[in-house]
Amino acid sequence: MNTPLIAIDRLSKSYRRGDQILPVLTDITFDIAAGEFLALIGPSGSGKSTLLNCIAGIDGVNGGSIVINGTDITTLSEGELAEWRSRHVGFIFQFYNLIPVLSALENVELPLLLTTLPARQRRDHARAALEAVGLPDRSDHKPSQLSGGQQQRVAIARAIVTDPDIIVADEPTGDLDRTSATDIMHLLGRLNRELGKTIIMVTHDQRAAAAAHLVRTFEKGELRVAP
Ligand code: ADP
Ligand code: MG
Repeated sequence: MNTPLIAIDRLSKSYRRGDQILPVLTDITFDIAAGEFLALIGPSGSGKSTLLNCIAGIDGVNGGSIVINGTDITTLSEGELAEWRSRHVGFIFQFYNLIPVLSALENVELPLLLTTLPARQRRDHARAALEAVGLPDRSDHKPSQLSGGQQQRVAIARAIVTDPDIIVADEPTGDLDRTSATDIMHLLGRLNRELGKTIIMVTHDQRAAAAAHLVRTFEKGELRVAP
C-alpha cells in the first residue's frame, strides 16, 4: 500500500483585502507519504505559511481538497476541524508561542486540557514529552528563564504531547543561533525516525532544509521538487 498520508488536489486559496482578492495558492497538487520529512522552501510571501495552515486545518481553503488519512478536511465544520486537529496535528512556530506565565511543564500540558485525560495522566504525559526533548530538569522554569533553543524544545514537547501523527513547523529555527538550530533539527529528525512522525517544515534555512528527506521549492503559489 502506498496511499499517501496527505493528498492535496487542486488546492486554491486567496485572501480578500477590502474588495480586492489576492490569490496565494493556485491549483496546488501533491502528495505527502506517511513518515515523510518534507521541507518547503521559497521566498518570503510565496505562500508557504498559508499552505502549512491549510494542511493543518488552521485556514480554510477556496477550492480543491486535502485528504488526510481518508478524511477530506476541507469538508469538515469548524468544530469537527478543531477536534480533528487536536488529535492529529502538532504545531511548532518560529517564536515558540509559549504562555509566559506558565511553567514549561504547564505549557506542555496545555493541549491535553482539551482531552478527557485525568490530571494525573496529563502531568505524566507532559513530563514524558519534556523528557523526550531533553528538558526533564527544566519543568518548573518559565519561558523567560529558558534560552531560545530550550523554549523551542518546550514548544516541540507541547507539539508531541498528544501523540499526533503529523507535525507542522513554520520556520522552527528562524529565531535561533546556529548551534541551537542544529539541535532542533536533530530533535525533529529523531521524532521522524524514532517516533514515525510525518513532518512538514517551512524554512528559509538551507541547513535546516538539508535535514529533511525531501525539499520542495515554492514560488508564487506553485510547487516544484528542488533540483
Ligand atoms: P510565506 O510564509 O511564504 O512568507 P505567506 O503564506 O505568509 O507567505 O503569505 C503569502 C501571501 O498571502 C502574502 O502576500 C501575504 O501578505 C498574504 N497573506 C497571508 N496571510 C494573510 C491574511 N491573513 N490576510 C491577507 N493576506 C494574507
Ligand atoms: Mg511564512
